[in-house]
Order: sequence, then C-alpha cells, then structure tokens
Amino acid sequence: MHVLIVEDEVRLAESLQQIMKNQKYGCDVVYNGQDGFDYAASGIYDVVILDIMLPKMDGFEVVRRLRREGVKTPVILLTARDDISDKVHGLDVGADDYLTKPFFAEELLARIRAVTRRQGDVIIEELKVGDLTLNLDNYTLHCKDKTIHLGFKEFEILRILMSSPKSVTQKEDILTKVWGYDSEAEDNNVEVYISFIRKKLAYLGSKVSVTTIRKIGYHLEVKDR
Ligand code: CA
Repeated sequence: MHVLIVEDEVRLAESLQQIMKNQKYGCDVVYNGQDGFDYAASGIYDVVILDIMLPKMDGFEVVRRLRREGVKTPVILLTARDDISDKVHGLDVGADDYLTKPFFAEELLARIRAVTRRQGDVIIEELKVGDLTLNLDNYTLHCKDKTIHLGFKEFEILRILMSSPKSVTQKEDILTKVWGYDSEAEDNNVEVYISFIRKKLAYLGSKVSVTTIRKIGYHLEVKDR
C-alpha cells in the first residue's frame, strides 16, 4: 500500500505519516494543493489522504482536476469542519470518502481499507493467478495446500505483478510504487526482492514464475506442467 498525504498542518502530517509507517504502508507527504495534485496525478498511489483547506489549491479543486485528468486513485478528504455541505460537495467532485478532524487512527485505517478494496462495486480481497492466491487482508500467499506469510515488500511487489499478470511491469514502476519517489532504492533492490519471491514460489511448488524481461521489467508466467 502506497499512500499520499496532502496536509499543510505539519504536526498532523507527521502523525499521519507515523500511522502509515506503523502499518508498514509506503508514504509520501506534501504540504500544499499544487504539490498534492502533481504527485497524485502520477497515478502511483493506492490512496490519497487530502486536506480541504490547503495553500495554493484547495482539496476540492485537487480532486476535481484529478478526476478530469482521468486519475481514479481513491481520495479521502479531511476537514476540520463537520459540515454536511462540505461532505456533499467533496463527494460530488469525485472524492471517495470523508473524515472529520479529529479522528482516531483506527477509523482512518478502516476507511483506507474500504476505499482501496472497492473497485467499481466489487470488493477485492484476494488476487488469483494460476495456482496462486494472494490474500490482501493478511499478506499470505496460498498454493494448493501450502500457505506462507510474505514480507511487506514481497507482498507489495507480488500484488503489483498479480494485478496485471499478462503485461510486463517495469522495474521503475515497482521502485516508485513500493519504495516511493524520494527513496534512495535502486534497481538492484527490486532484483533482490524478486529473487526472494522466486524462492517462495519454488518452495510452494507453484506453476507460476516471475520472468525477467531484460532491461524492462517482469511478468508472471504460468507453466503448463
Ligand atoms: Ca489545512
């Protein structure tokens, strides 16, 4: 899970970042609406947590522009006011949910889980490719009668690959989605985790393998035998 936080109150932004870290979610933080739009428009985030009252561009305008650009990333609006007209307006311009400050971390996390699982009206709880099932709730991977737990980065990488198993996922995409924009991580970090994933697939005896497309990235292949 990779979260973008757009919040100009530095202390709140820090505490949001800490909540995400505790969940082992990847997280980027920006402090005004313009940066919020620019980062979110990249489409690399699973969810955007967006304050309404922001410098440069307010949260409503950020959502409106994102939706106009075709960016479908779920957005949760934050506001200090418990004002029903704000709520309606926010949902009208394309936000997915709404949270009034102050709130409990558990409530925010529940909303994040809800909006990121909703795709259309279908709730996605697992991904299946070949004989593999990735459980999105508890980071486990099943194959036939075996189940293993995955580390956070292994889980995130596999989730990306299993979400579009037929297409090649670029190494660069994996880097930004799993490690974040400002990270120092490099291509070989991705390679190391891919090798961990391959070992786990071998242990499970899965027919699915991760194929390297040289200088581009990876895709999943299902063997017949
Ligand atoms: Ca604010």
